Amino acid sequence: MGPRHVPLRTCVQCQQVRPKRELIRVVRTPEGKIAIDERGKTAGRGAYLCRNPACWNEAIARDRLDHALKTKLSLEDKDQLLEFGRRLPSIEGQQASTAQTQSSH
Ligand SMILES: [Zn+2]
Repeated sequence: MGPRHVPLRTCVQCQQVRPKRELIRVVRTPEGKIAIDERGKTAGRGAYLCRNPACWNEAIARDRLDHALKTKLSLEDKDQLLEFGRRLPSIEGQQASTAQTQSSH
């Protein structure tokens, strides 16, 4: 069990760098649809956000995803993303998983 390469991504809102699987990918598909790509495998241009409802709210309020995805999100898209952000599990779970990946205290 040696050290493994962990792909890192940056949250487009808070700019925190985290392991890719701790972030959620939002993708603009080749058809121009906005989708939440929980498996990280959908083709298209992607942007990453923390599992933190605040990042979703802020990113949408500040049009960060529009910039990252080089598109204009429709109100429907924004509603969908805000709804997803609201349903994210609480921050406690996120901190617990982050603590396991950080060796320093
Ligand atoms: Zn964030």
